[in-house]
Amino acid sequence: MKKPKILLIYTGGTIGMIKDADTGALRAFDFNNILTRIPELRLLDCEIETTSFREPIDSSNMNPKYWADIAQIIESNYHDFDGFVVLHGSDTMSYSASALSFMLENLSKPVIFTGSQLPIGDLRTDAKENLITSIQIASLQIKGLPAIREVGLYFEYKLYRGNRTTKINAEHFEAFESLNYPHLAESGVHLNINEEFLWRSQSNEDLVVRTKMNTNVAILKLFPGISRPILEAVLTSNLIEGLVLETYGSGNATTEPWFIDLLKKAISKGLHIINVTQCAGGSVTMGQYETSSQLKSIGVISGKDITTEAAITKLMYLLGENIGQSEFQKTFETPLRGEMT
Ligand code: ASP
Repeated sequence: MKKPKILLIYTGGTIGMIKDADTGALRAFDFNNILTRIPELRLLDCEIETTSFREPIDSSNMNPKYWADIAQIIESNYHDFDGFVVLHGSDTMSYSASALSFMLENLSKPVIFTGSQLPIGDLRTDAKENLITSIQIASLQIKGLPAIREVGLYFEYKLYRGNRTTKINAEHFEAFESLNYPHLAESGVHLNINEEFLWRSQSNEDLVVRTKMNTNVAILKLFPGISRPILEAVLTSNLIEGLVLETYGSGNATTEPWFIDLLKKAISKGLHIINVTQCAGGSVTMGQYETSSQLKSIGVISGKDITTEAAITKLMYLLGENIGQSEFQKTFETPLRGEMT
Protein backbone atom coordinates (compact mmCIF):
# COMPACT_ATOMS: atom_id res chain seq x y z
CA MET A 1 0.00 0.00 0.00
CA LYS A 2 1.11 3.54 -0.76
CA LYS A 3 2.35 5.49 2.23
CA PRO A 4 0.33 8.63 3.04
CA LYS A 5 2.04 11.87 2.02
CA ILE A 6 2.05 14.68 4.55
CA LEU A 7 3.00 18.30 3.96
CA LEU A 8 4.44 20.14 6.97
CA ILE A 9 3.87 23.88 6.73
CA TYR A 10 6.06 25.89 9.08
CA THR A 11 4.71 29.40 9.76
CA GLY A 12 6.79 30.19 12.82
CA GLY A 13 6.40 30.10 16.59
CA THR A 14 8.41 28.59 19.40
CA ILE A 15 8.27 25.06 17.99
CA GLY A 16 10.78 25.79 15.25
CA MET A 17 13.26 27.72 17.33
CA ILE A 18 16.62 26.74 18.71
CA LYS A 19 18.89 28.44 21.21
CA ASP A 20 21.76 30.21 19.55
CA ALA A 21 24.93 28.56 20.85
CA ASP A 22 26.68 31.89 21.36
CA THR A 23 24.00 34.29 22.56
CA GLY A 24 21.43 31.88 24.07
CA ALA A 25 18.61 33.76 22.28
CA LEU A 26 15.83 31.83 20.55
CA ARG A 27 15.86 31.96 16.75
CA ALA A 28 13.99 30.13 14.00
CA PHE A 29 15.98 27.28 12.44
CA ASP A 30 15.90 26.22 8.83
CA PHE A 31 12.89 23.98 8.73
CA ASN A 32 14.08 22.16 5.66
CA ASN A 33 16.50 20.46 8.02
CA ILE A 34 13.74 19.12 10.22
CA LEU A 35 14.46 15.50 9.33
CA THR A 36 18.03 15.86 10.53
CA ARG A 37 16.93 17.62 13.72
CA ILE A 38 14.24 15.06 14.55
CA PRO A 39 15.42 11.72 13.18
CA GLU A 40 12.40 10.03 14.83
CA LEU A 41 10.30 11.41 11.97
CA ARG A 42 11.92 8.88 9.67
CA LEU A 43 10.32 6.09 11.70
CA LEU A 44 6.82 7.28 10.84
CA ASP A 45 4.93 5.29 8.26
CA CYS A 46 4.42 8.19 5.87
CA GLU A 47 6.29 10.41 3.45
CA ILE A 48 6.97 13.90 4.75
CA GLU A 49 7.71 17.04 2.78
CA THR A 50 8.16 20.47 4.26
CA THR A 51 7.54 24.03 3.24
CA SER A 52 8.04 27.15 5.27
CA PHE A 53 7.10 30.82 5.36
CA ARG A 54 10.06 32.66 3.89
CA GLU A 55 10.24 34.65 7.09
CA PRO A 56 8.73 32.64 9.95
CA ILE A 57 6.68 34.77 12.34
CA ASP A 58 5.78 34.91 15.98
CA SER A 59 2.07 34.22 15.81
CA SER A 60 1.30 37.54 17.50
CA ASN A 61 2.01 38.96 14.04
CA MET A 62 -0.54 36.66 12.39
CA ASN A 63 -3.09 38.35 10.11
CA PRO A 64 -5.61 37.49 7.34
CA LYS A 65 -2.94 37.87 4.65
CA TYR A 66 -0.92 35.06 6.26
CA TRP A 67 -4.11 32.99 6.62
CA ALA A 68 -4.60 33.36 2.88
CA ASP A 69 -0.99 32.24 2.33
CA ILE A 70 -1.58 29.08 4.39
CA ALA A 71 -4.86 28.41 2.55
CA GLN A 72 -3.13 28.84 -0.81
CA ILE A 73 -0.29 26.48 0.13
CA ILE A 74 -2.93 23.87 1.01
CA GLU A 75 -4.89 24.53 -2.17
CA SER A 76 -1.92 24.22 -4.48
CA ASN A 77 -0.76 20.99 -2.82
CA TYR A 78 -4.20 19.54 -2.13
CA HIS A 79 -4.13 16.77 -4.70
CA ASP A 80 -0.54 15.73 -4.06
CA PHE A 81 -0.83 15.21 -0.30
CA ASP A 82 -3.07 13.17 1.99
CA GLY A 83 -2.81 15.53 4.93
CA PHE A 84 -1.36 18.80 6.17
CA VAL A 85 0.29 19.75 9.46
CA VAL A 86 0.58 23.47 10.14
CA LEU A 87 3.26 24.45 12.64
CA HIS A 88 2.19 27.67 14.26
CA GLY A 89 2.84 29.71 17.40
CA SER A 90 0.35 28.90 20.11
CA ASP A 91 -0.62 32.50 20.92
CA THR A 92 -3.05 32.96 18.04
CA MET A 93 -3.37 29.36 16.91
CA SER A 94 -7.07 29.18 17.79
CA TYR A 95 -7.80 32.22 15.61
CA SER A 96 -5.87 30.75 12.68
CA ALA A 97 -7.43 27.30 13.01
CA SER A 98 -10.88 28.95 13.09
CA ALA A 99 -10.11 31.19 10.11
CA LEU A 100 -8.77 28.30 8.04
CA SER A 101 -11.83 26.19 8.85
CA PHE A 102 -13.99 28.86 7.18
CA MET A 103 -11.60 29.48 4.30
CA LEU A 104 -11.38 25.81 3.30
CA GLU A 105 -14.87 24.95 2.09
CA ASN A 106 -15.60 21.24 1.39
CA LEU A 107 -12.33 20.22 3.04
CA SER A 108 -12.03 16.43 2.97
CA LYS A 109 -8.44 16.01 4.19
CA PRO A 110 -6.84 16.65 7.58
CA VAL A 111 -5.34 20.04 8.35
CA ILE A 112 -3.79 19.76 11.81
CA PHE A 113 -2.45 22.82 13.61
CA THR A 114 0.20 22.24 16.24
CA GLY A 115 3.03 24.02 18.02
CA SER A 116 4.68 23.87 21.39
CA GLN A 117 5.40 25.74 24.59
CA LEU A 118 9.12 24.91 24.50
CA PRO A 119 11.37 24.97 21.41
CA ILE A 120 12.09 21.73 19.63
CA GLY A 121 15.75 21.84 20.70
CA ASP A 122 14.96 22.15 24.41
CA LEU A 123 15.67 19.12 26.55
CA ARG A 124 12.18 19.14 28.08
CA THR A 125 10.40 20.08 24.90
CA ASP A 126 6.76 19.26 24.24
CA ALA A 127 7.39 19.88 20.53
CA LYS A 128 8.40 16.35 19.54
CA GLU A 129 5.29 14.63 20.85
CA ASN A 130 3.02 17.33 19.43
CA LEU A 131 4.67 17.14 16.03
CA ILE A 132 4.98 13.37 15.78
CA THR A 133 1.41 12.66 16.89
CA SER A 134 0.03 15.41 14.65
CA ILE A 135 1.72 13.77 11.68
CA GLN A 136 0.36 10.39 12.74
CA ILE A 137 -3.15 11.83 13.02
CA ALA A 138 -2.86 13.50 9.62
CA SER A 139 -1.77 10.12 8.16
CA LEU A 140 -4.64 8.10 9.62
CA GLN A 141 -6.85 6.49 7.04
CA ILE A 142 -10.05 4.51 7.33
CA LYS A 143 -10.89 2.37 4.28
CA GLY A 144 -8.52 4.39 2.13
CA LEU A 145 -10.01 7.75 3.15
CA PRO A 146 -8.55 10.25 5.62
CA ALA A 147 -9.95 9.68 9.12
CA ILE A 148 -9.90 13.42 9.90
CA ARG A 149 -11.51 15.68 7.30
CA GLU A 150 -11.45 19.02 9.04
CA VAL A 151 -9.18 21.61 10.62
CA GLY A 152 -7.97 20.18 13.94
CA LEU A 153 -5.63 21.43 16.63
CA TYR A 154 -3.37 18.94 18.39
CA PHE A 155 -1.65 19.86 21.64
CA GLU A 156 -0.52 17.87 24.67
CA TYR A 157 -2.15 14.51 23.94
CA LYS A 158 -5.45 15.87 22.62
CA LEU A 159 -6.89 16.58 19.22
CA TYR A 160 -9.54 19.29 19.21
CA ARG A 161 -11.78 20.72 16.52
CA GLY A 162 -9.74 23.82 15.69
CA ASN A 163 -12.62 26.28 15.64
CA ARG A 164 -13.76 25.16 19.10
CA THR A 165 -10.48 25.91 20.86
CA THR A 166 -9.15 28.71 23.04
CA LYS A 167 -5.66 29.15 24.43
CA ILE A 168 -6.21 28.92 28.17
CA ASN A 169 -2.70 28.85 29.62
CA ALA A 170 0.51 30.69 28.79
CA GLU A 171 2.78 28.26 30.66
CA HIS A 172 1.28 24.82 30.98
CA PHE A 173 1.95 22.25 28.29
CA GLU A 174 -1.82 21.78 28.28
CA ALA A 175 -2.33 25.20 26.71
CA PHE A 176 -5.67 24.72 24.92
CA GLU A 177 -9.18 23.68 25.74
CA SER A 178 -12.40 23.16 23.88
CA LEU A 179 -15.07 23.59 26.54
CA ASN A 180 -18.10 23.33 24.30
CA TYR A 181 -17.10 20.36 22.18
CA PRO A 182 -15.59 16.95 23.03
CA HIS A 183 -12.02 16.05 22.08
CA LEU A 184 -11.75 14.49 18.64
CA ALA A 185 -8.96 12.17 19.80
CA GLU A 186 -6.81 11.38 22.80
CA SER A 187 -3.29 10.11 22.63
CA GLY A 188 -2.12 7.73 25.33
CA VAL A 189 -0.77 4.24 24.99
CA HIS A 190 -3.28 4.05 22.14
CA LEU A 191 -4.45 6.79 19.83
CA ASN A 192 -8.21 6.89 20.47
CA ILE A 193 -10.27 8.60 17.81
CA ASN A 194 -13.76 9.64 18.90
CA GLU A 195 -15.35 8.96 15.55
CA GLU A 196 -18.83 10.13 16.51
CA PHE A 197 -17.52 13.69 17.00
CA LEU A 198 -15.63 14.05 13.72
CA TRP A 199 -16.82 16.53 11.12
CA ARG A 200 -18.21 15.07 7.96
CA SER A 201 -19.03 17.54 5.20
CA GLN A 202 -22.48 17.01 3.70
CA SER A 203 -21.20 17.71 0.21
CA ASN A 204 -18.89 15.84 -2.14
CA GLU A 205 -17.90 19.03 -3.93
CA ASP A 206 -14.28 19.98 -4.60
CA LEU A 207 -12.32 22.14 -2.20
CA VAL A 208 -13.13 25.84 -2.56
CA VAL A 209 -10.71 28.29 -0.98
CA ARG A 210 -12.22 31.58 0.15
CA THR A 211 -9.70 34.11 1.36
CA LYS A 212 -11.58 37.40 1.29
CA MET A 213 -11.68 38.47 4.93
CA ASN A 214 -13.23 41.81 5.83
CA THR A 215 -11.34 43.35 8.74
CA ASN A 216 -13.77 46.17 9.52
CA VAL A 217 -14.69 44.35 12.70
CA ALA A 218 -14.08 44.60 16.43
CA ILE A 219 -14.49 42.72 19.70
CA LEU A 220 -15.95 44.53 22.67
CA LYS A 221 -15.98 42.93 26.10
CA LEU A 222 -18.66 44.28 28.46
CA PHE A 223 -17.73 45.18 32.02
CA PRO A 224 -19.64 46.87 34.81
CA GLY A 225 -18.96 50.57 34.29
CA ILE A 226 -18.68 50.58 30.50
CA SER A 227 -19.48 54.14 29.53
CA ARG A 228 -21.69 55.68 26.92
CA PRO A 229 -18.99 57.74 25.12
CA ILE A 230 -16.75 54.72 24.74
CA LEU A 231 -19.54 52.54 23.32
CA GLU A 232 -20.61 55.42 21.10
CA ALA A 233 -17.08 55.80 19.77
CA VAL A 234 -16.99 52.14 18.74
CA LEU A 235 -20.47 51.94 17.27
CA THR A 236 -20.42 55.16 15.31
CA SER A 237 -17.06 54.55 13.66
CA ASN A 238 -17.48 54.98 9.90
CA LEU A 239 -15.60 51.79 9.26
CA ILE A 240 -17.15 49.21 11.53
CA GLU A 241 -19.32 46.56 9.82
CA GLY A 242 -19.34 43.79 12.42
CA LEU A 243 -18.94 43.63 16.19
CA VAL A 244 -18.49 40.66 18.50
CA LEU A 245 -20.02 41.71 21.82
CA GLU A 246 -18.75 39.63 24.73
CA THR A 247 -21.64 39.64 27.16
CA TYR A 248 -22.16 38.16 30.63
CA GLY A 249 -23.26 34.59 31.37
CA SER A 250 -25.84 33.29 28.93
CA GLY A 251 -25.74 36.44 26.80
CA ASN A 252 -26.82 39.12 29.24
CA ALA A 253 -26.07 42.84 29.28
CA THR A 254 -27.13 45.98 31.08
CA THR A 255 -30.71 47.07 30.35
CA GLU A 256 -29.88 50.78 30.70
CA PRO A 257 -31.83 52.58 27.94
CA TRP A 258 -28.76 54.43 26.51
CA PHE A 259 -27.01 51.11 25.97
CA ILE A 260 -29.91 49.41 24.20
CA ASP A 261 -30.64 52.56 22.14
CA LEU A 262 -27.07 52.79 20.89
CA LEU A 263 -27.05 49.15 19.82
CA LYS A 264 -30.45 49.49 18.19
CA LYS A 265 -29.40 52.54 16.20
CA ALA A 266 -26.20 50.83 15.04
CA ILE A 267 -28.09 47.69 13.95
CA SER A 268 -30.64 49.75 12.03
CA LYS A 269 -27.72 51.35 10.14
CA GLY A 270 -26.50 47.89 9.10
CA LEU A 271 -24.00 46.92 11.80
CA HIS A 272 -23.97 43.18 12.57
CA ILE A 273 -23.63 42.60 16.32
CA ILE A 274 -22.85 39.07 17.52
CA ASN A 275 -23.64 38.09 21.10
CA VAL A 276 -20.92 35.80 22.50
CA THR A 277 -20.56 34.93 26.16
CA GLN A 278 -17.41 35.99 27.98
CA CYS A 279 -17.64 32.74 29.98
CA ALA A 280 -15.14 30.09 28.90
CA GLY A 281 -17.90 27.52 28.35
CA GLY A 282 -21.65 27.40 27.81
CA SER A 283 -24.00 29.09 25.41
CA VAL A 284 -25.80 32.37 24.74
CA THR A 285 -29.56 31.96 25.12
CA MET A 286 -31.14 35.31 24.44
CA GLY A 287 -34.50 35.64 26.16
CA GLN A 288 -33.63 33.40 29.09
CA TYR A 289 -33.22 36.49 31.31
CA GLU A 290 -34.79 39.91 31.07
CA THR A 291 -31.27 41.23 30.59
CA SER A 292 -31.02 39.59 27.18
CA SER A 293 -34.63 39.84 25.91
CA GLN A 294 -34.14 43.32 24.49
CA LEU A 295 -30.94 42.32 22.73
CA LYS A 296 -32.92 39.66 20.91
CA SER A 297 -35.75 41.98 19.98
CA ILE A 298 -33.47 44.68 18.52
CA GLY A 299 -31.80 42.14 16.21
CA VAL A 300 -28.57 41.16 17.96
CA ILE A 301 -27.30 37.90 16.41
CA SER A 302 -26.82 34.90 18.70
CA GLY A 303 -23.34 33.41 18.73
CA LYS A 304 -24.76 30.46 20.71
CA ASP A 305 -21.80 28.45 22.04
CA ILE A 306 -19.20 29.76 19.58
CA THR A 307 -15.78 30.89 20.86
CA THR A 308 -14.75 34.52 20.44
CA GLU A 309 -11.95 33.33 18.12
CA ALA A 310 -14.39 31.53 15.84
CA ALA A 311 -16.94 34.37 16.04
CA ILE A 312 -14.53 37.09 14.90
CA THR A 313 -13.12 35.00 12.06
CA LYS A 314 -16.59 33.87 10.94
CA LEU A 315 -17.63 37.52 10.95
CA MET A 316 -14.64 38.50 8.77
CA TYR A 317 -15.39 35.58 6.48
CA LEU A 318 -19.13 36.24 6.02
CA LEU A 319 -18.59 39.98 5.55
CA GLY A 320 -15.90 39.16 2.99
CA GLU A 321 -18.36 36.94 1.12
CA ASN A 322 -20.88 39.79 0.94
CA ILE A 323 -23.75 37.86 2.48
CA GLY A 324 -26.86 40.03 2.05
CA GLN A 325 -28.27 41.98 4.99
CA SER A 326 -31.41 39.84 5.21
CA GLU A 327 -29.63 36.46 5.22
CA PHE A 328 -26.73 37.51 7.43
CA GLN A 329 -28.30 36.66 10.78
CA LYS A 330 -29.54 33.25 9.63
CA THR A 331 -26.20 32.40 8.04
CA PHE A 332 -24.23 33.43 11.11
CA GLU A 333 -26.52 31.43 13.41
CA THR A 334 -26.06 28.30 11.25
CA PRO A 335 -23.07 26.04 11.98
CA LEU A 336 -20.91 26.10 8.84
CA ARG A 337 -17.92 23.98 9.96
CA GLY A 338 -19.08 22.57 13.29
CA GLU A 339 -18.08 25.78 15.09
CA MET A 340 -21.35 26.00 17.02
CA THR A 341 -23.95 23.54 18.23
N1 ASP B 1 4.82 33.76 21.02
C1 ASP B 1 4.84 32.45 20.42
C2 ASP B 1 3.92 32.46 19.21
O1 ASP B 1 2.73 32.40 19.36
C3 ASP B 1 4.43 31.40 21.40
C4 ASP B 1 4.40 30.01 20.81
O2 ASP B 1 4.99 29.73 19.79
O3 ASP B 1 3.77 29.16 21.41
O4 ASP B 1 4.41 32.54 18.11
